[in-house]
Amino acid sequence: MSWAQFDTQQDKRPLPRIVRPDPNLCLLRARCGIINAVSGSHPFQTDDLRLQPIYEKVLARERLSADDALVLYRSGDILAVGWMANHVRERMHGDKTYFNVNRHINPTNVCVAACRLCAFGRKKDTPGAYTMALEEAFQTAASGYTEAVTEFHIVGGLHPDLPFQYFLDLISGLKERFPQVHLKAFTMVEVAYLAKRAKLSIRETLQQLEQAGVDSLPGGGAEIFADRVRHIICDHKIDGDQWLETARTAHQIGLKSNATMLYGHIETDEDRVDHLMKLRALQDETGGFQTFIPLAFHPDNTPLQHLPKTTGMLDIKQISVSRLMLDSFPHIKAYWQMMTPKIAQISLRFGADDIDGTVIEEKIYHDAGATTPQGMRRQELVRLIREAGREPIERDTLYRPVTRTETSVTVGV
Ligand code: SF4
Repeated sequence: MSWAQFDTQQDKRPLPRIVRPDPNLCLLRARCGIINAVSGSHPFQTDDLRLQPIYEKVLARERLSADDALVLYRSGDILAVGWMANHVRERMHGDKTYFNVNRHINPTNVCVAACRLCAFGRKKDTPGAYTMALEEAFQTAASGYTEAVTEFHIVGGLHPDLPFQYFLDLISGLKERFPQVHLKAFTMVEVAYLAKRAKLSIRETLQQLEQAGVDSLPGGGAEIFADRVRHIICDHKIDGDQWLETARTAHQIGLKSNATMLYGHIETDEDRVDHLMKLRALQDETGGFQTFIPLAFHPDNTPLQHLPKTTGMLDIKQISVSRLMLDSFPHIKAYWQMMTPKIAQISLRFGADDIDGTVIEEKIYHDAGATTPQGMRRQELVRLIREAGREPIERDTLYRPVTRTETSVTVGV
């Protein structure tokens, strides 16, 4: 698969051309090694000559290599890297920028894994540990229902005692009470843990969850696939191959999912590239990923809190490199909760075409020191997108347009 297969509109704009300005200026630029071209009204310009062959590949819709990804990560020319990512983003989606009206539900923070990256999970019976009774989870779902939510995003800890039936009842109970809401539930890590606890195969577990009402899976728990990193940041989780195999199985039975990457901790550029290449290879095979979501690491209240937070430069670079490398992924999301609304908004000009949703009550990253609001009104998301010069499109989880009137919500096809 390639970019061309996901173009949502024909690119009718002329291809970027090499600018031929004043010959004296040309000479000066040539001496400085500056490449200069324009796409529409935005000039492409760089003094990083390593980007030139990548630029040519991008224009020719050729797939970029792992070596190209390393060059992109290591280039300081964020505007040139962003220009290319934006070019691809506009080729695929024009100005369309997606958001949704969703609510997060975290049924429990009790977790056996004790990942060093995490400030959310708690051991059973320790201060702050909680597990929702089913009725409580249903009330939580209902409490954010004023804006006609189209998605519940449901993830939590790996609880050592909750039976598989609890999760099946949670899902079927939500489906019964909110039949029109898409249930995006359980990371690959949770699915693998539930399978182990229920002594079922991954496939059987996913099938039972789907029968109960799970409509798709979020992309969490991928972190960084490299073993060396995983041993340090999340040693007790499934490994990278198991994460990919669980995603593969989900896609094979028809469940779509997202994919994530946690960046900005102890990983190297090579680790990030390895992660992206593995996701791209699986997407080539299954086509089951909808969106890639780079997640900025928040160190506060974790055993890794000595690490610095990510910078705006890295956040934006990560969005751009993701868009350029994951040519078979339809969407790249700038998750405003992790990146801040300001950086997420700017990212809409650097490769991202989705800004996530209203969320309503985010817990996981706020336990790790996120200072963003725990939710955002629909109008505020629309304002962020419009101010970036983009066209806001409310979507459902499967990226079908959502039309609202005073009295109804309609999901298009
Ligand atoms: S990251 Fe997930 S699996 Fe790891 S400790 Fe936190 S809740 Fe548990």
